[in-house]
Amino acid sequence: MDARLEAIRDTVLARNPGEAEFHQAVVEVFESLGPVHDRHPEFLEAAILERLCEPERQIIFRVPWTDDAGRVQINRGFRVEFNSALGPYKGGLRFHPSVYLGIVKFLGFEQIFKNALTGMPIGGGKGGSDFDPRGRSDAEVMRFCQSFMTELYRHIGEYTDVPAGDIGVGGREIGYLFGQYKRITNRYESGVLTGKGISWGGSLVRPEATGFGTVIFTQEMLKTRGSSFDGQRVVVSGSGNVAINAIAKAQSLGATVVACSDSSGYVVDEAGIDVALLREVKEVERGRLKDYAERRGGVSYVDGGSVWDVDATVALPCATQNELDGDAAARLVRGGLLAVGEGANMPSTRDAVAVFQDAGVLFGPGKAANAGGVATSALEMQQNASRDSWSFEHTEERLTEIMVGIHHRCASTADEYGQPGNYVLGANIGGFVKVADAMLAQGLI
Ligand code: NDP
Repeated sequence: MDARLEAIRDTVLARNPGEAEFHQAVVEVFESLGPVHDRHPEFLEAAILERLCEPERQIIFRVPWTDDAGRVQINRGFRVEFNSALGPYKGGLRFHPSVYLGIVKFLGFEQIFKNALTGMPIGGGKGGSDFDPRGRSDAEVMRFCQSFMTELYRHIGEYTDVPAGDIGVGGREIGYLFGQYKRITNRYESGVLTGKGISWGGSLVRPEATGFGTVIFTQEMLKTRGSSFDGQRVVVSGSGNVAINAIAKAQSLGATVVACSDSSGYVVDEAGIDVALLREVKEVERGRLKDYAERRGGVSYVDGGSVWDVDATVALPCATQNELDGDAAARLVRGGLLAVGEGANMPSTRDAVAVFQDAGVLFGPGKAANAGGVATSALEMQQNASRDSWSFEHTEERLTEIMVGIHHRCASTADEYGQPGNYVLGANIGGFVKVADAMLAQGLI
C-alpha cells in the first residue's frame, strides 16, 4: 500500500475498533488508490479519504416488539448515512442475526463507490437490524417492521435517504415498512423506499435486477476473452433473491447452473437448477433447499459443507460476505475456473481475490458486478418522481446499458492506470474519483 495512505488507514482502523468487516472493506479500497493520489495531490490536501471513511451520520436505535406469544422482544436498528456527495443516501436494509455496526459500515462504505459507478445521482448508505425473520410469522415480521419504521421514518425521505432490501428484507418487509411510513407521515411518498410492489410504485425488473446485472457484468468480462455464458458450467452460492435471478439469467444465456446453496447445505443438480421449482420452494413457501432436492428428485443434497467444492467454469457467489476463502478459491482454480462475478457484497476474502487474480481468472468485485440492483432502484425513483411506470423490456434495456457502462468504466480505468483486466482497481478508482471530485467542489462539509 502507498505509504501516504498507510497512516490514514491506521487512523481509520484505530478509530473504529472491533469492526473487522469495515476494516477489510477500507483496506481493500486503499490498496487501489495510491496511483490516484499521485495524479491528484489535491485529494490528500483536502483530506478526502479521512472524510470518506467517517460516515456523515450514524443512527442506532432500540426496536421493541411483541412476538406471537405476547413476549417482549428487543432488537437493535441501524442506519448509517455514509456519503451524500452525489445524491440522497441510498442502500438497503439487512435483517440478519449477524448484523452489527461493523457490517452496516462495510456495506455502507462499499455502497458509496458502487452507487458512483452506476452514474446515477445517489449517495451511499446502509442499515438493518439483528432481527432474524427466519421462522417468524407474517404478523411478527409486520410488528417488527412497524416498530423499526417508527424510529427510522424521521431520518429518511425521497430527498434525504432512500432504503431498499438486502438479506432478509424482500417485498413483504418493504410493504410493511412503507405502510408504516405512510401512516406516520400521512404522505404517499413513493420515492422514500425502493423494492415496492408493482401495483403501488414498484418497478418491473427490480426484483430480478441484482442477479440479472451480475450475469450481464460477468458476460461482458467473458467477452473480453472471446467467450460467453453459452456452454459454461456455473456454480452459484445462496438461493435468495440475488442467487435465484442470477441462476435464471445465466441459464437463459445457455449456461448450466449445476449447484446452489443456503446456510444449511447445497444441492448439486447436474441437469441444471429448475428455476420455477426453486422459486416456488424459496419465494412462495419460504422453504429450504433440502425441500427443493426432495421435490426435484435425482439430485444430491449435501448437508453443511461448501458449495465451492463443486467444479465450475464460472462462479457467482450470491450469499454473504467472506463465504469464499483462499482455499476454496485455489480449489476452484484447479477445477478450471474462468470467471467470478460477485452477486453478494464482499463474498470473497482478500486471500481468495489474490488467488483469482494471480491465476488470471476474470474477477468482477461486488461493488461493480452487483450494482444492477441499486441502479434499478434509482430507475424506480425516476418512475416515482415522474408518476410513470415503464415496461419490463424498457427497464431491462436500461439495466443492461447501465451494466455494460459499469463494465466499460472499470475496464477503461484499469487500462488508464496501467493494469488492464484489474476490475478491482478499476471499480475502486472509477467510483472514488467521481465522489472525490464532488466532495472537493462542495467545500469542507
Ligand atoms: P436473501 O436474504 O434473499 O438471500 C440470502 C441467501 O444467502 C440465502 O440463500 C441465505 O441462506 C444465504 N445466506 C445468508 N447468510 C448466509 C450465511 N451467513 N451463510 C451462508 N448462507 C447465507 O438476500 P439477497 O439475495 O438479497 O442478498 C444476497 C447478497 O447479495 C448479500 O451479500 C447482499 O448484500 C447482496 N446484494 C443484494 C442486493 C439486492 O438487491 N437484494 C443488491 C446488491 C447486493 P438462508 O436462507 O439459509 O439464510
